[in-house]
Amino acid sequence: MYIPDFEYYAPDSLDEACQMLAQFGGRAKVLAGGTDILPKAKTFSPIAPPQTPLPEILVSLKNLEELKKIEYVPGKGVVIGALATHNDLVNSELLNKKYMSISEAAHQMANNQVRNRGTVGGNLINAVPSADLPPILIALNASIKLVSVDGERVLPLEELFLDVCVTCCTEKEILTEVVIPDQKMTGSNYIKFGARRSGALAIAGVAVAVEVENNVIKDARIVAGAVAPTPIRTKKAEDFLKGKEVTAELLEEAGVIASGECKPITDIRGSAEYRTNLVRVLTKRALRKAIDQGHV
Ligand SMILES: Cc1cc2nc3c(=O)[nH]c(=O)nc-3n(C[C@H](O)[C@H](O)[C@H](O)COP(=O)(O)OP(=O)(O)OC[C@H]3O[C@@H](n4cnc5c(N)ncnc54)[C@H](O)[C@@H]3O)c2cc1C
Repeated sequence: MYIPDFEYYAPDSLDEACQMLAQFGGRAKVLAGGTDILPKAKTFSPIAPPQTPLPEILVSLKNLEELKKIEYVPGKGVVIGALATHNDLVNSELLNKKYMSISEAAHQMANNQVRNRGTVGGNLINAVPSADLPPILIALNASIKLVSVDGERVLPLEELFLDVCVTCCTEKEILTEVVIPDQKMTGSNYIKFGARRSGALAIAGVAVAVEVENNVIKDARIVAGAVAPTPIRTKKAEDFLKGKEVTAELLEEAGVIASGECKPITDIRGSAEYRTNLVRVLTKRALRKAIDQGHV
């Protein structure tokens, strides 16, 4: 398999990287772990075209150490640098203590090789509907920071996604961090359903975060992945749960409502009907786990 020629730069600072993207315009793209952009650019024979042509120029972020950190910043929350890899999430003591559901979601992704290279930023900007990190991060109310020569903007993660593989991150911008604010939520969970236990993309995935007090649901966020062009909040199911006592019937009904809110397609991995049914079951199970575990 062949990768076409390209120009390669590895700037030493975020400023320099932003300058390059501004200067090169649409001819350049950011390179993070390369687990998506490079395989897509490979041709399977010297004459066949690649699935997605590689841009003329790749600007690697590999020297930007400050984007690799996972840390707690008082008053802000847990800050996950865009260059943190999936295995950094799995192995982070901070996340294992504060947001085990994120580490668990990362652990269900791909295989060790991809988890060692693939980054949080790449997973979000890729914006494939089956991506595993967006649902749990949106459920935890994450925000993101996009930086360019024109300055920076902070926005809720759920506003990043516009369509299948389309985000509001412009060609000049670099995603630098994801912030998980301090939570009132008392539990969270993500369940992915793939064709195999590991190494398979999600046919559907559901993440939830709940605030439960005295067995009553005070607040809930439910996010489904792989069942619409972008990750979706199932807001009718969220509203339905608020103020109600936890019972098996309540969680079952929330699953039914959530499944009615998704807009899945039929593809090689599953039919629309199958995916709809998965959302019903996964919502119920994820809620049960988030409520029972008693930790976020
Ligand atoms: C075998 C295999 C299995 C996989 N399994 C899964 C899975 O189970 N679940 C899942 O969710 N994904 C899976 N993936 C997809 C992929 O690995 C992830 O989405 C990964 O997180 C991409 O990150 P990366 O750093 O490698 O991105 P790259 O390939 O470097 O970049 C991807 C895209 O994002 C842009 N980009 C990257 N970082 C930034 C940034 N900081 N700012 C702006 N733009 C940026 C790039 O320009 C490019 O367009 C799999 C991939 C492979 C090859």
